[in-house]
Amino acid sequence: MAASDSVIPLGAGPRDLRGRALRDLRISVMDRCNFRCPYCMPRETFHDKYRFLGSHERLSFDEIVRLARLFVRLGVRKLRLTGGEPLLRPNLTDLIGDLTAIEGIEDIALTTNGALLAKYAFELRAAGLQRITVSLDSLDPGVFTRLSGGFGALEDVLSGIEQARRAGLGPIKVNTVIQRGVNDHTAIELVDRFRGTGVIVRFIEYMDVGNRNHWRPDLVVPSKELMTRISARWPLTPLERAYHGEVAERYSFTDGRGEVGFISSVTQPFCGDCTRARLSSDGVLYTCLFATHGTHLRDKLRGGASDDDLLRVMRETWLRRADNYSEQRQAHLAAEGERKVEMFYIGG
Ligand code: SAM
Ligand code: SF4
Ligand code: SF4
Repeated sequence: MAASDSVIPLGAGPRDLRGRALRDLRISVMDRCNFRCPYCMPRETFHDKYRFLGSHERLSFDEIVRLARLFVRLGVRKLRLTGGEPLLRPNLTDLIGDLTAIEGIEDIALTTNGALLAKYAFELRAAGLQRITVSLDSLDPGVFTRLSGGFGALEDVLSGIEQARRAGLGPIKVNTVIQRGVNDHTAIELVDRFRGTGVIVRFIEYMDVGNRNHWRPDLVVPSKELMTRISARWPLTPLERAYHGEVAERYSFTDGRGEVGFISSVTQPFCGDCTRARLSSDGVLYTCLFATHGTHLRDKLRGGASDDDLLRVMRETWLRRADNYSEQRQAHLAAEGERKVEMFYIGG
C-alpha cells in the first residue's frame, strides 16, 4: 500500500460546502447481522420475516474494489469494513486482499461484533487487515445478552479478542455504547478488564441513528460524566489527537497502563472535522451517518458507466455536501417526517 503518481496529493481532492476533504470510506459489506442490538437492529423490526438484501443486490467484491479505487482518486486514504456484521459476508478475506493492493490506501480496519472473530482472526490478518474494532457493551452476561438481543455469547467475543491479539491485529479497540440505566453500571468493569492488556476501550455516546431504536436524550450518558467516574478510580491524562479528524478524545492512564477513549457525538459533535463517506451494501453513497438520502452508484456501475462517469457523480455528491446533523440535532429531532437511513444498512 504505497502512494503513487495516480494518487492525488493530500488536500488536492474535492472539498464539501463546509470545506471538508474526503479521507475515509466506510464500506458496509453486509446488511445482515447475527445480533439484534436494541439500539441498532431491534428485534421487533428486524424479525424472521424482515427482508434483507439478496446476494445479487449487494455490491460484488469487484464492484466494491472498483469504487474504492475511484474513492482514492478523490482523496480517500482509510477504509473501514463494517455492516451489519461484516464477518457474515462469505469470503471476506478475498475482498480485504484486493483492497490492500490498492495504491494510496494507507489503512484498512474492520468493525465487528466479535462473535465470529475467533474463527477468522488469523485469516483476516493474513489477508492484510491491520486493525480491528470489536463492539462489546458489557462483561456482565445478563447485560450482554440484553444488548445483543439474545444472540451471541460473551465468551465467543472475548475469545475473538484474544485470537485477534494473537494474530497481531493491533491495536485492538473495543467500542462500547453506553446507555443510562442499561449498562453504565458495568463501564468500570470493562475498563478494569482491558487496562494493561493493550486493548483500548472507547466509550460511544448512544446516538439517535435510524428511526427505530427508541432513542431518548435521557438515555445518553455524557462522556464527561463517564470520564469523571473513570478518572476518580484511575487518574487520566489527556492525549493529543493522533491525526486530523480523529473522533475519539483519548486519555492515558497516569500509571502507564494504556489508554481509554470517548466518542462524544451527541454532547460534543465533531462535524467540523468529518471527512467520512459511507457506502451501503447495495452501493448507495451517503455523506452522513444521519443522512435521509444518498447517491445510487450500483445501477450506474451495472449500467456500464465509465470510471469518469462514476467519478463525476461521486465528486459532485461530495461537493454539495453540507451535513452537520449532530450540530443541529435539536432542530432535526423537532422536524417531523424526517426518515434517516438505518445504521445496519450503511455501517457504523
Ligand atoms: N456489527 C458490527 C459491530 O457491531 O461492531 C459492525 C456494525 S455496527 C452498526 C458499528 C458500530 O456502531 C458498533 O460499534 C455499534 O456499537 C455502533 N452503534 C450501533 N448503533 C448505535 C447507536 N445507536 N449509538 C451509538 N453507536 C451505535
Ligand atoms: Fe449487529 Fe453491530 Fe448493529 Fe449490533 S451494532 S445489531 S452487532 S450491526
Ligand atoms: Fe459526520 Fe454526519 Fe456525524 Fe456530523 S453527524 S460527524 S457530518 S457523520
